[in-house]
Parts: sequence; C-alpha cells; structure tokens
Amino acid sequence: MSYDVLILGGGPAGMSAALNVRARGRSALVVSNPLEENPLWKAEKVDNHLGMPAQSGAEMLANLRRHAEDAGVVFQTGRVISAMALDDTWYVSIGAEMENAKALVLASGVQRGKKFPGEEEYLGRGVSYCATCDGMLYRGKSVAVIGYTDSARHEADFLSSIGCSVTYFEKPKTCLIEGGASVERVTVNGETLECECVFLLRPAMAPTDIFPGLAVEGSFVKVDRKMATNIPGLFAAGDCTGGPLQVSKAIGEGLIAGQSAAAYVAKK
Ligand SMILES: Cc1cc2nc3c(=O)[nH]c(=O)nc-3n(C[C@H](O)[C@H](O)[C@H](O)COP(=O)(O)OP(=O)(O)OC[C@H]3O[C@@H](n4cnc5c(N)ncnc54)[C@H](O)[C@@H]3O)c2cc1C
Repeated sequence: MSYDVLILGGGPAGMSAALNVRARGRSALVVSNPLEENPLWKAEKVDNHLGMPAQSGAEMLANLRRHAEDAGVVFQTGRVISAMALDDTWYVSIGAEMENAKALVLASGVQRGKKFPGEEEYLGRGVSYCATCDGMLYRGKSVAVIGYTDSARHEADFLSSIGCSVTYFEKPKTCLIEGGASVERVTVNGETLECECVFLLRPAMAPTDIFPGLAVEGSFVKVDRKMATNIPGLFAAGDCTGGPLQVSKAIGEGLIAGQSAAAYVAKK
C-alpha cells in the first residue's frame, strides 16, 4: 500500500510526527519494533514531560500510541532494513516486505553500541541484518545469530525452521567476524564458531546504513530548523538528531518533522 508519509521508528518522536501528518489530512504509516522494545518502556517514572507527570515509560508509550491510532495513524511492526528513492517515491524494505511513501521521517532513536570488527567489511558477504530477507541463502548451513531483542529470537526460530543450523548469542561483549572472500567464522566472547553467515539483529540500525549519503555530525543526523535532512523528502526527529535525549524534545521535533513532511507532500 502507498502512504503519504512513512515514519521509521515508533517512539515519542515518530508518533508525534505521525499525529501531525494526520492533522494535515495526510496518511501516515509508522514502522517500528514492538512497543515493549522501545528503550523508554523500561523507564520506571518519567517526570519531566509537562502535563503527564509520574507516568511509567510503558504507560506513556501506550498513551501516545492510543492517541496516534485514534487519529488514524497506521502501525506496522517490523524492522526497516533499507530505503530507496525512485521517481519521487520512497521504497522501504521492512524485513522481506516493501512499503512506499512520498516522504519519510526518520525517528529511529539512538543506536547503542559500536559496529563489530569485520561487520562493515563482510556486510553482504556473510553479514546480514535481516534473517527473513537473507535466510534462504544459508539453508543447510551453519549461521550465528547475535540477538538483542525478543523479536531476534523469533528470527532465529525462522532460520532454524528453514533448515539453517543456528547458534544464538545474546548481547555479546565482544564479537570478531573473520573470513576470506566471505565470512568463515565468528568469535563471540572468546568462543569461535565456524559459520557462513552472522545475522546481527539489533533493535536499531545506523541511519547511514539505511540512507547512504545522509549527512551526519558524529553519530547524529544533521537537520535544519524544519527537521529536513540533506536528502530531499527525508526528515528526521528525536534522539537521532542529537541531545538532549529527552521525551519533550523528541515530541517537539516530531511535530515539526511531521508538518514539514506533510508540506513536502502537498507540493508534489
Ligand atoms: C531507562 C530510560 C529512562 C528514561 N527516562 C527519561 C525521562 O525520565 N525523561 C525523558 O525525557 N527521557 C527519558 N529517557 C529518554 C527517552 O526515552 C528518549 O529521549 C526518547 O524515547 C526518544 O524518543 P525517539 O522517538 O527519538 O526515540 P526512541 O524512543 O528510541 O524510539 C525509536 C524507536 O525506533 C525503533 N527503531 C530504530 N531503528 C529501527 C528500524 N530500523 N526499524 C524499525 N524500528 C526501528 C527503535 O527500536 C525504537 O523503538 C529515558 C530513556 C531510558 C532508556
């Protein structure tokens, strides 16, 4: 299905952007990991967002989601792997599925943790971020899954179900990926496994992995006052644009990004 604006990330910034796209009469799709995997979910008490005192992170997220859904925002659970603009339309891969939209808002939060040695080098040659996309290539073969979320366990189960021999590692401290022309082994926390693929299933991906050419400052996305990035039709909001890494700032930037994306669509 085609949407006016697709929002990547269903935290406070993404939901605020989506609500404000709907307020401008445009359709909005939010693609995100499950709500319980949002980092704010674990906050015992959020006390510095005006008008919503003493809520737990989970309560706050559930309230934001209800508000957005009531306004007609569509939610899809999944992980965005890549995005490509072609003839004024964005094509976004969500696992093995595809959605398209006229504009995008990136609201993916912060990526916690650095890339592992060998990850960049072997990406596409035995390093994958998506089990459902690349799993079939490794049927009958030994693969490692480095999982960070409950959904990663489901992806590992999927790999087993199609005949991969899966070794699952949870949130490792160290990981070294090695091989020749393609991956041959991975060493996780000192334990070496011969394998042909390492699936790295993190909750978030680096924005520059999804959008090659995206301008960044350090690990944060560069935006102007309209929350526009250097890529036409791509806006950004929330923690991914830099500090303060706080709910109120994320919601405020989401509003601007949503309005800017809707205005961009209106001009098309
Ligand atoms: C324990 C804890 C307590 C906190 N307490 C407070 C507090 O008291 N007050 C306060 O103001 N702030 C607090 N924060 C910070 C607050 O959670 C963040 O500032 C806020 O959630 C940022 O919103 P966001 O929408 O930019 O990003 P996020 O809330 O991080 O949302 C981004 C979402 O996008 C998803 N995502 C990322 N990449 C992809 C992808 N490729 N495909 C699909 N989904 C993707 C992520 O999994 C995540 O669910 C706390 C944070 C933590 C971790």
